[in-house]
Amino acid sequence: MTDRYTGSRAQHQRSARSLAGGVATAFRAPQLPVPISFARGTGSRLWDVDRNEYLDYALAFGPMLLGHSPQAVVEAVRRQLEIGIGYGASHTAEAELAETICRMVPCAERCIFSSTGSEAVHAALRIARAGTGRNRVIKFQGHFHGWLDPLSVGVPGREDASAASAGQDPHASIAVTVCPWNDLAALRAELRDDVAAVIMEPLAVNGGCLFPSPGYLEEVRQLTTAAGTVLIFDEVITGFRLAPGGAQERLRVTPDLVILAKALGSGFPISAVAGRADLMDEVASGRVRHAGTLNANPISVAASLATLTELERDAAVIYAHLEAMGNGLATILREECSSAGLPVSVNQLGAMGHAFWSEDPVNDHPATLRADREAYRHLAAALLDEGVHVIPRGLLYVSAAHTEADLAETREAVRRAARGVGASLEARTTVGAPR
Ligand code: PMP
Repeated sequence: MTDRYTGSRAQHQRSARSLAGGVATAFRAPQLPVPISFARGTGSRLWDVDRNEYLDYALAFGPMLLGHSPQAVVEAVRRQLEIGIGYGASHTAEAELAETICRMVPCAERCIFSSTGSEAVHAALRIARAGTGRNRVIKFQGHFHGWLDPLSVGVPGREDASAASAGQDPHASIAVTVCPWNDLAALRAELRDDVAAVIMEPLAVNGGCLFPSPGYLEEVRQLTTAAGTVLIFDEVITGFRLAPGGAQERLRVTPDLVILAKALGSGFPISAVAGRADLMDEVASGRVRHAGTLNANPISVAASLATLTELERDAAVIYAHLEAMGNGLATILREECSSAGLPVSVNQLGAMGHAFWSEDPVNDHPATLRADREAYRHLAAALLDEGVHVIPRGLLYVSAAHTEADLAETREAVRRAARGVGASLEARTTVGAPR
């Protein structure tokens, strides 16, 4: 088949012969008409191997908060490449980065570094268990905390707490209780004196950019403090994206521990756990083993320091701009889809959002399950045809590199895509999703 994705199709077929599934993570597989192979990215734009140009609202699944290949990050990494790629030992920049995080993030008194969000979640659970001498952990239905076994239950898109993957060790999540989110009664019922940690995305971004009910986070904070349970905010997505200090700054509730990744590294592999000094002392004392050959490697640290330096220096301007871009994108999707008669609902706060194919507003986990995922995937494909790249699952991201002119271009593209999808829906006799 020859079309504007011929190169990506060929690349995918070639990859599938040696790279299992033809993609490097499962989340890249659902893209229609084929997982796109990209050749280049700068600012708000990407180009694929067929030389198609896209306005990018996927942003590498979140990390590119400053846009693709931001100059400050490229220069810092280039400088570091010349003087050392990895020491496997201490270096001055790691302390500087830890100090910066402790300055920016409200709960951060000490921090540790790993390479991925999943690893940092793992470390945070160890710290919480060691610090409390307890074992049980409460997570929430529809929240995502990485791909490792213990918390791969009750994930987005699932109705129940069953394992997300074949091959998962069922014993790994024996001490994990999955609760409905935004439900204080359910939490109260489970929060006994054996619970080491309550972990959540403070804004449930993966599951639909769902908002905490008014007062919910404050009450969870009080309940966990009273129970002697460690409150962990997984801010892998919201960290640095929602505010310089993340969701905890913006929503004004301070957890005991936070997990940071994605925007922390502008696309380089780095994550962190930060939090209360007395808990982090479990690592400092060596009681909690925290290891990783690549932890705080100088390249990732250079990228991270350059990113945070930019964000701190121009915080007022950057975050106001991110707000405007996020609001703008959500408004465009709502208005243009509505004009074309498409039932698209968008949840959004600041530089992130989640769109659903749904007649009704999507405010909780059950509503996310009722939305038509397949139909949204087709809308994402129509947007791709018009030069707009979004995550087929519904997540939306904007960067500091997006502009008003980008949004104006996006509006035209969304209009064309939505009308095309609307027309193809009308042309069918069967009601419902375009397949
Ligand atoms: N927690 C959250 C909230 C995430 O969104 C993700 C990744 N999407 C992770 C943890 C896992 O991070 P990583 O993919 O870097 O392991």
